[in-house]
Amino acid sequence: MDFKDLKLIPCLLKALESQQYTQPTPIQQQAIPAVLQHKDLLACAQTGTGKTAAFALPLIQLLYQQKEAGEGSDNIKILILTPTRELAIQIDESFKNYGAYSGLKHLAVYGGVSQYHQVKHLRQGIDILIATPGRLLDLVMQRYISLQQIKIFVLDEADRMLDMGFITDVQKIVRKLPVKRQTLFFSATMPPEIVRLSQSMLDNPVKIEITPVSSAAETVEQAVYLVEKSDKRSLLIHLLKNNEIESALIFTQTKFGADKLCYALRKENIKVKAIHGNKSQAERQKALSEFKNKNIRVLVATDIAARGIDIESLSHVINFELPNVPETYVHRIGRTGRAGASGKAISFCGMEEKMLLRDIHKLIAQPIPVINNHPYQMADAGLSLPPKPLMYNRSRGGRRNKIFMQS
Ligand code: AMP
Repeated sequence: MDFKDLKLIPCLLKALESQQYTQPTPIQQQAIPAVLQHKDLLACAQTGTGKTAAFALPLIQLLYQQKEAGEGSDNIKILILTPTRELAIQIDESFKNYGAYSGLKHLAVYGGVSQYHQVKHLRQGIDILIATPGRLLDLVMQRYISLQQIKIFVLDEADRMLDMGFITDVQKIVRKLPVKRQTLFFSATMPPEIVRLSQSMLDNPVKIEITPVSSAAETVEQAVYLVEKSDKRSLLIHLLKNNEIESALIFTQTKFGADKLCYALRKENIKVKAIHGNKSQAERQKALSEFKNKNIRVLVATDIAARGIDIESLSHVINFELPNVPETYVHRIGRTGRAGASGKAISFCGMEEKMLLRDIHKLIAQPIPVINNHPYQMADAGLSLPPKPLMYNRSRGGRRNKIFMQS
């Protein structure tokens, strides 16, 4: 199948050619026809599957055709709600690329920066608005934005909205939208709250499930180093001496941990920057573009800051600390090996993290090969992993709680 088979209009085909996309990804093959037929959509898919183009392309087409038919106005007609400013900027960039020949006006509004320029742009008239919940509500309250004319609403990364505590804001926003609208709902996972939220918002949706969360685990080459917490930094410096690591995105659990690691690496003359919630928007964007342009070799990030960032040809993802939620492991390693490129994921696992490693093994349904011949080998690295939990139950948030037998 190619993009022409999806009945996309010439201005989109031209843009796709400049992007050098030859074939639609599976989510694009399924979502584009449904959206063009004005259907609601419930898509279970994560970043890396081509989901942004799966909604952006048909939305541009619908709006372009409306304008051609003389039905245009200066009101916002499409709203895309996304949890982080990085994602908002990235989606805006996608609309810029895919809509390059459409003449449609789009804007991203997000917090952490002055609203001055955003308001100035809004006043010029916008067709497509990409927003994070907090800033959107602020601008709606100040009457800079009206959601009355929204024809199509996209909720992106609904599960992350839940994790970040934005669900009430999302519900507030949905209540301000016209009841009669088309809604596209995207989520990487479907815990019960998200299923309920989707049911409250969608009308007879087309359902698409693209990648089970374990898929990145099948394409990315993975390895784990068993190493004491106190030796992790030395092991990392040792590994970074290998030139095979052209670029590395390193995950830490905390902002403080990211800064500390950055400081230590810099002392070793490694070109590195950190992105996390305490960094200003300008600092984050600068670090990201320096990393993309290969001016720095290492980017240290926390999960929220790194969510959705798209870096082509990233050679390595390194989990300096394992995540508490196993799905996050798959999201993290999915930053490398994108669009068929080869990528490697290295994880450091300390003694106190072995349970987390077991949860990850369980989720991805495969053990990650353990590298034994390294200079910072854990004293009891040969010992087996901790006992398997006997069963799991699911709490309200869909998280798994382990239940162990009392001895
Ligand atoms: P997303 O899932 O939207 O974050 O997209 C992941 C990456 O895939 C982005 O770098 C897109 O530019 C790229 N991409 C999206 N669709 C295609 C396609 N049909 N062919 C090649 N690359 C694509």
